[in-house]
Amino acid sequence: MSTILDLAPQAVWKHFHALTQIPRPSGHVEKVSEYLVNWAKGLGLEAFIDNVGNVVMRKAATPGMEGHKMVTLQAHMDMVPQKVAELAHDFTKDPIQTVIDGEWVHAVGTTLGADDGMGVAAIMAVMEDPNLKHGPLEALITKDEETGMYGAFGLSPETLKGDILLNLDSETEGELYIGCAGGLDITAELEYKEEPAAEGFVGRKITLKGLRGGHSGIEINQGRANAVKLLARVTHDLLMEFDCQLVCFAGGNMRNAIPREAAVVLNFNPEDINDLENYIAEYEAQIASEYKSIESGVSLKIEEVEACKNVVPEEIQDNLINALMACQDGVMRMIPTVPDTVETSSNLAIVNIAEGKAAFKILARSSCDTMKDWLADSLAATFNMAGMKTTFSGGYSGWQPNVDSPILAALKKTYKEKFGKEPEVKVIHAGLECGIIGANYPKMDMVSFGPTLESPHTPSERVHIASVKKFYDLIAAVLEQI
Ligand SMILES: [Zn+2]
Repeated sequence: MSTILDLAPQAVWKHFHALTQIPRPSGHVEKVSEYLVNWAKGLGLEAFIDNVGNVVMRKAATPGMEGHKMVTLQAHMDMVPQKVAELAHDFTKDPIQTVIDGEWVHAVGTTLGADDGMGVAAIMAVMEDPNLKHGPLEALITKDEETGMYGAFGLSPETLKGDILLNLDSETEGELYIGCAGGLDITAELEYKEEPAAEGFVGRKITLKGLRGGHSGIEINQGRANAVKLLARVTHDLLMEFDCQLVCFAGGNMRNAIPREAAVVLNFNPEDINDLENYIAEYEAQIASEYKSIESGVSLKIEEVEACKNVVPEEIQDNLINALMACQDGVMRMIPTVPDTVETSSNLAIVNIAEGKAAFKILARSSCDTMKDWLADSLAATFNMAGMKTTFSGGYSGWQPNVDSPILAALKKTYKEKFGKEPEVKVIHAGLECGIIGANYPKMDMVSFGPTLESPHTPSERVHIASVKKFYDLIAAVLEQI
């Protein structure tokens, strides 16, 4: 049976395999950073871990090419740890098992870590290959990209020496990325004093699940349902139609994911209970019909729970649910000059209302910083009307596209010569480390590209085998051109 070690280019797959054997979930990258530095030193390269935990390597130019511009190859060392529920897998200890499945490689029940292990493996192959022709080379392998781009944020403005940065962390072969969205975390909070529930009421929990969710940037324009937004609508209508009181509400768990599930607990007047089951069943059918062809697993179910002794006071309950109804969610605007790409979006990501505290968490994204600020202020205005306190944090700038970039021109020319067609030039509606690195290195000329990955950040993550060869061949060829 063949393994990934038999695939081409062998050097890239050999290093990728080695990375699958080293646990490297975000937040636990010490083992892999140590491995990378020791490996590079073993080859006689300059290599060190910087003050925040990023790995930097340098390789001298091929004789005769010393005067060329220095290229920084960049990838991130951490991976998203996601697994199927039934698998016992400890991402801090267990290796990732890989499987060749036709044209693709995937893992057994876990994320594969091709995001961004393929970028790291390609860097290692370049650093090791004595036959490539290139000017002076540098590598930056950042830590903890997936949980907040901490390595890129912590990178000092003095560490890198490169003139050109090739980020190897985008997900479709044949596409060159020249811009990305910035982001801002918006958090609205309120503390309230619970009040005693009405006497004799009965408890019911209503759960919405089975939605697709997805990446809050890349998949925000696909019309998928947001579980929090939808359940807020159901709750709003229940409060209008039935004699009931809000006990608690919870939905979503990651700021950068479209929420897939949400649940609300209400106390009902027992006289209203008969109609309730029908009402929820009809609502489920209505949602399924509104989202037919996008969402196939919509499930809205009601179950009996013990009635809670305390509830949210009526005025606060109405304010909070109204704020969720009014909260902007989804695409706000496309880029006027690139109309197929989202410019500004909002993801109502995590909501918790319980035991005297309400917290709403939103991620706003835009490639235009002033539009992002407008969206944030407009969300704050909505929440302030509900009496909530709104704070902004974790803001980072977008990466403004430069269509006249010399490295973009070199990559387009090299791609055309090698593969006989034009690559697509795009802007991504998600954060890339380029935006953050560029803020400290404004003179660096940057492009991002990578092999073809599908379903990254999920246990279905897979990488297209043939695209890995094209990805590596493009790096090798463009290094010779610079
Ligand atoms: Zn990545």
